[in-house]
Amino acid sequence: MAVFETEALVLRSYNLAEADKIVVCLSRSTGLIRGVAKNCRKLKNRFGASLEPFTLINLTYFEKEHQELVSFSQTEILRSRFNLSSDAAVLSGFSYMGDLLMDFSPPRQANDNLYRMALACFEAVSQSPSDLEWVLRYFEVWLLKLEGFLPDLRTCANCHKAFGGDEPLYLGSDLSLRCASCSAGRGTVISKQVHQQLRATEKLSPPKFAEETRGVPAETREALAQLTYKLISRVLERTPRARPTFVTS
Ligand SMILES: [Zn+2]
Repeated sequence: MAVFETEALVLRSYNLAEADKIVVCLSRSTGLIRGVAKNCRKLKNRFGASLEPFTLINLTYFEKEHQELVSFSQTEILRSRFNLSSDAAVLSGFSYMGDLLMDFSPPRQANDNLYRMALACFEAVSQSPSDLEWVLRYFEVWLLKLEGFLPDLRTCANCHKAFGGDEPLYLGSDLSLRCASCSAGRGTVISKQVHQQLRATEKLSPPKFAEETRGVPAETREALAQLTYKLISRVLERTPRARPTFVTS
């Protein structure tokens, strides 16, 4: 039996038997892990409130060979999000991010960039809940990028010319981005404004991205939201389970 300690973000928990829970976490050192927290639903238990979704914890767990579920032995809260528990929009946004992390992360594969990006997004919304929409777009773009599904935003997939100017770009059915002449007008149109938003995520932190793009017109925001939704649905081969309430179509 091996014992491990890692920082982890609680994504979801399910009741198991009378007093236990199955908890899904994104951990820094092991990636996505599923574990059992014994007796955690009893009034007095060693886990306290640490296993509430979206809490950042220090987790000690052990695992036995050939068992998918690990056993949680100790937790310590590093950052709780109780202050946001009554904000329905934030909770729905957090659930959406949590679901996507579970969908995109292969079990037990550490991905430090993904872990840090996710944490930065949860933190940015915690600090400034009104930035939720921007942070979700940022999260979606980076999730796609870090998992290798974001098209090259700099050059045409066909002629390799750098994108620039005012011409729209076209997203092909193979999820690659082409210039107007290579695509011959086929594919999903990506406006210059949406392209600029995508590029901005590459250079900025989540709070900076929110700050710098607050003035972007509703039309562009909607187009970006639809684009990321489309890309994610294509990768998953279905629509995401949860969907942020403000995405209208
Ligand atoms: Zn081209």
